[in-house]
Amino acid sequence: MLRWLLTATLACSFIVSASCHDGVTATPPDTTPLNYWQAGKTVSAQAIAAYGGLDKCFAAEPIPDGVWQRMQGKTYKENPYIGCDDLRHVRALHWDYDKQIHIGEMICHKQIADRVVRILRQLFDAKYPIQRMLLPDVYDADDERQMRANNTSCFCYRTVAGSKHLSKHARGLAIDINTLYNPYYKVRKNGTRIIRPATAKPYCNRDKDFPYKIDHDDLCYRLFTEAGFLWGGDWKSPKDYQHFETP
Ligand SMILES: [Zn+2]
Repeated sequence: MLRWLLTATLACSFIVSASCHDGVTATPPDTTPLNYWQAGKTVSAQAIAAYGGLDKCFAAEPIPDGVWQRMQGKTYKENPYIGCDDLRHVRALHWDYDKQIHIGEMICHKQIADRVVRILRQLFDAKYPIQRMLLPDVYDADDERQMRANNTSCFCYRTVAGSKHLSKHARGLAIDINTLYNPYYKVRKNGTRIIRPATAKPYCNRDKDFPYKIDHDDLCYRLFTEAGFLWGGDWKSPKDYQHFETP
């Protein structure tokens, strides 16, 4: 009886707190069904099963209209080189250090879409930690902002920072992984350092150990290079530890 009362009281207090007195609804993230692809949400095994199973959660398809709309003027700008038909929307799940399954998405070139899906599935199966896999549009396609948030992404129509050349990201042929902990790093001739994101200073010393670090022993490094990608961490200068691209 006491147990029943306690359960009933807890259930009531939950209902009260979840019904929004102050406009804030507290929805437990992993019990709601996954009816559509909500990147950034965490999911339970049941929600994945209800969505159609793991295989359906790893796929590359033409970009849905709603996503394409969100990209306009942010990651996508009218240009003569790449259009909607060249790109794919990739669905993937990923683990993080919180031991939860997170929903991710990215846009990449159709040439690499199958490889990317396969690699992301292998990383998932190995429980490789990735913190966030959102479209850069969430950050208004501001690379510095998404890197500070440790976001993982691929396509963004932009030039190489500090130059007029189109980046491989502008064709959806380069992927940046766990970007805060795997920064872009360059020492100019005059000795000044460029670190992107600017908040990544602690992660430029690659002799140190820290979470999300990509090095030659790392699974992410192995899978991408085996699939034909080059790693920016192997470049002499700059070093771009987050970056994998097709030659
Ligand atoms: Zn990159």
